[in-house]
Amino acid sequence: MDKKSLNGNDIVLTGDYLGVVEEFLPDKQSTFIKDGQIFASKTGFITINKKERKIEISTHQEKDRKIVKIGDIVIGTILFLRQYSVGINFYTINKKIHFNSSYFGNIHVSQISDRYVDKINDAFQITDILRARVVAQDYNEYKLSTAGKELGVIYADCVICGNSLTKIGYNKLKCNRCGNIESRKLASDFGNVTNNLRF
Ligand SMILES: [Zn+2]
Repeated sequence: MDKKSLNGNDIVLTGDYLGVVEEFLPDKQSTFIKDGQIFASKTGFITINKKERKIEISTHQEKDRKIVKIGDIVIGTILFLRQYSVGINFYTINKKIHFNSSYFGNIHVSQISDRYVDKINDAFQITDILRARVVAQDYNEYKLSTAGKELGVIYADCVICGNSLTKIGYNKLKCNRCGNIESRKLASDFGNVTNNLRF
């Protein structure tokens, strides 16, 4: 039996040896255990969650899944601001756009940044496009976070005139048409996201 160490995205076949139970927490849907050893119960790609030591096998179809899972990175548009949260409509899951599906998420003020955010509208405005991580699910609603430098607003319009804003400093944007200066919780690649994100 081949006992070479496995890496994420390795392809395994049904019945392949994956490791021992002391090493991994096996996924019930895609693995089985025999004498303390873990084997693949289907053919597909390996996913190893390093933090939880969870090992799972998923097929190509599942990689393109429309079902949102915790840890997924999503892209969406801000629909509304509340005092302590924002509502987001999202349609891109792990870089895959699902034109015919849309999902609803919200970001609580405590999940916006690793730094303290006093007012929601210092971080976000309606119609901003942002990248966020799914942190929890509550029925049909997903709780999202933009803490981390790669997460946050990737495109924003001026609240006064609607022109697209340009980054001028840390979490600072300027409108080149009317001169308005605004702040946002920006993703590190703000302004460099070339995909056609608005539809
Ligand atoms: Zn403007």
